[in-house]
Amino acid sequence: MISLYDILKAANGQLFGEPSSHLFAEFCFSARQITPGSLFVAMRTSHGDGHAEIAEAIARGARGVVCHGPPDCDTTGVTVLMVRDTIDALLAWSRYTLTKHGTKVIAVSGSSGKSVAVEALAHILSLRYPVHRGNVDEEGWLGLPLSLASLESSHEFVVLKIDVMQPGEMMRLLQIVRPQVVVLGHLEAVYPPAFSSADAYYDEHRALAKTLSANSLLVLNSDDEASLDLRHHTQAQWKLIGIDQPKADISAFNVVVGAERTGFDVRYGSERYLGRWSPLIGVHLLYGVLAAVLVGAHYGIPLDESLKAVTSLNPLPGRMRPLIGRQGSLLVDDTYRANVASTLAALNWLNVVRRDYQRAFFVIGELDRLSGRSQQDYRQIGCRAAEVVDSLITLGAEASLAGRAAMDFGLSPQRVHMLYSPQDVLSLLAPQLTADDIVLVKGGVASDLDLVMRGLLNDLQDEVLLLPTRQAQRSITAAPVPLRPTWLVFDADALAMNVRCIAAHLGQDKTLMAVVKADGYGHGAVRTARIALMNGASWLAVANIDEALTLRQSGVDAPILVLSYVPSHAVRQAIRENLAVVIFDEDQARSYDRMARDVGQRLICHVKIDTGMGRLGILADDAVRVFRQLASMTNLHLQGIYTHFSSADDDTEYTAKQTERFKALVRALRAAPFNFEYIHAANSAASLYLRDPLFNMVRVGLMLYGLNPSKLWPIVPGVRPVLSWKTTVLQVRHFPPNSPIGYGNTYRTQGYETIAILPVGYADGFRRAPRTWREVLIQGRRAPLVGRVSMEKCAVNVSHIPNVDVGDEVVLLGAQGEDAIWAEEIAEWLGTINYEVVTQILPRQPR
Ligand SMILES: *Cc1c(COP(=O)(O)O)cnc(C)c1O
Repeated sequence: MISLYDILKAANGQLFGEPSSHLFAEFCFSARQITPGSLFVAMRTSHGDGHAEIAEAIARGARGVVCHGPPDCDTTGVTVLMVRDTIDALLAWSRYTLTKHGTKVIAVSGSSGKSVAVEALAHILSLRYPVHRGNVDEEGWLGLPLSLASLESSHEFVVLKIDVMQPGEMMRLLQIVRPQVVVLGHLEAVYPPAFSSADAYYDEHRALAKTLSANSLLVLNSDDEASLDLRHHTQAQWKLIGIDQPKADISAFNVVVGAERTGFDVRYGSERYLGRWSPLIGVHLLYGVLAAVLVGAHYGIPLDESLKAVTSLNPLPGRMRPLIGRQGSLLVDDTYRANVASTLAALNWLNVVRRDYQRAFFVIGELDRLSGRSQQDYRQIGCRAAEVVDSLITLGAEASLAGRAAMDFGLSPQRVHMLYSPQDVLSLLAPQLTADDIVLVKGGVASDLDLVMRGLLNDLQDEVLLLPTRQAQRSITAAPVPLRPTWLVFDADALAMNVRCIAAHLGQDKTLMAVVKADGYGHGAVRTARIALMNGASWLAVANIDEALTLRQSGVDAPILVLSYVPSHAVRQAIRENLAVVIFDEDQARSYDRMARDVGQRLICHVKIDTGMGRLGILADDAVRVFRQLASMTNLHLQGIYTHFSSADDDTEYTAKQTERFKALVRALRAAPFNFEYIHAANSAASLYLRDPLFNMVRVGLMLYGLNPSKLWPIVPGVRPVLSWKTTVLQVRHFPPNSPIGYGNTYRTQGYETIAILPVGYADGFRRAPRTWREVLIQGRRAPLVGRVSMEKCAVNVSHIPNVDVGDEVVLLGAQGEDAIWAEEIAEWLGTINYEVVTQILPRQPR
């Protein structure tokens, strides 16, 4: 219980009004997650000031509030305590509580395996002592006050996880916690983003080792170099755990890795204990067990007794927890956290146990956002997965890098599935599982794996064995609210589905070229390219060579056609980067040929024929003659020929004429004979109806992004928009009749009107003239734009929408509630086409 007077005393606080309750069951830090009767702490964090949430916290049942200034809402019936700084107050209270109860602290720190070690330590120490097990689910130092809220005087020990997220935090925490024992199992080269390097994170732990007093115990891992090294930096007594380590104080050996338990022998000094086992699976989880047994011995618990107790340890949710999966398969939930080391450790386990199963599936979501080498990490995981699994399923754009790597390392593409939505993972996996299959699911906080885990359970009642849903946590740790008030949302799932639907619509015999020019029509070229390539596209097209080079620099190695601009001096780069260029003119071709000869390698070319578009190209009537010239340019590899339609969206007759002209030319050239690997004509609109077997490639742009290429033809079923554009309400104003709004006083309120000011303007691409957006969505309802659009601001009338508030989400493009505003409608308002709507949203918006 948390006592009001303890906080008052410890934090030098001040009561605001009459206190009503004096005791609270727990702390809550977010108004949205209040449990009734709790004490709400309004903290200032990088995400905002909790002070603004006090009213909501009270409404949701908080019985007390700790805050740094007088609340500006009604607090009758609620205890309000003001302190100078809420974080300092919590820490001071923590120190006060530990001293008051005289509890000994066993602390676990390091980069992974902490929760399991906490669990094992508490389990073994409680054989002899009253032990309080601290909170293992909260990230960062907030876990400390949460852990201590339920501490009682009768507890002799408390086992705590110490998580440092910021440089310097360790020292501050140690001064409060003052542990008797510290266990440091793993110190991998991954570290929270606030640290500048692995060294800085290591320094934090070295400071820990240095600070420990001579009568405390430091438990280090002799199999982890960084952990082991800390013995040189401490005056504390240190002891070593290890596996097959003769030098360790306690060492496991003859480890037998099983699907549902881990067997081992133990050597402790000169004693040996044979044939022991733990229900925790994975060799990496054995370290926490060894540490617990060692600390138990330190406090006089005989090894025999602790090792027996180990057999009744419970696996924790999300930490290599075996469950019964669909159709009786073995489902292993390792979705609590993920870094490269813990993922490889999980794969090592899978590698051993898979021999008892028919098929081994591995589902990998995104790793936790730790600084360092994420691309390499995914590659390493993919490489190992290729050796271990029968089928690899990646979820999300980042995790797909592991899929690529697995294929590079020889896992056949049929066994690699790069997916973007949990639903897709379930529809792929759930129906095919059998009792002979094993499924390992791994991923970090940012992954959408909760749904996958729930969907793969055989019995939904087992849901209680899973981690609680992490939507709330995700919104804090994974997707920080952008610092700009206006932002774009990119729906990767939609893009992946679109590409798959389009590829299916085109059929097997047509190569899909994804057009990602103009930064992927404003959607981001690199991610669009990656997702398109993983879902059925095999070529890319861009406008200018610099766009192609950007893709190459991001590791995209698919063939790319540069549609417009490659100056001759860049031919060398085009060859080196394996790019295909367009030939549209005899002189240009000759100059390319000379450049390629100098490089000593052939340049890949697609020849562009003008069949009536009247833009770039070789005139169809002139083409046979030009090709005779091209034939002598031996440094050009004429791989493709194509044409482009001028009115595929609304004039099928004209398109048919262009098609005929082009086909006649191709026939004539074939007789010459010129043969082409690729012959292509259709863009998005023509792809909806052009079905000529002569063409074996289709260049699709607009439709990839879910936009409708034609008013005459229905879009491919299943295709939906990828991009949304959002902002928030900056201010809500109430004006009397006849008040002018904005520059030039072009709008005057008719009656009493409520006007919301939005932080978006023409400098963001929110068009000012000659015509503007007409409406935006707030609370799922349409609010009309009033007055002129300024550079950074605009105004909408919200008189008809109740309770519009500062910070409310506003949708400029996209869906909200029951309604949606898509690019086609906006194009009507602006007097343009949907292509221009999306490409004109300026790149300064965060995406
Ligand atoms: C942009 C472009 C395309 C793609 O057109 P969509 O209508 O967006 O599908 C195809 N071919 C060429 C030559 C292009 O320039």
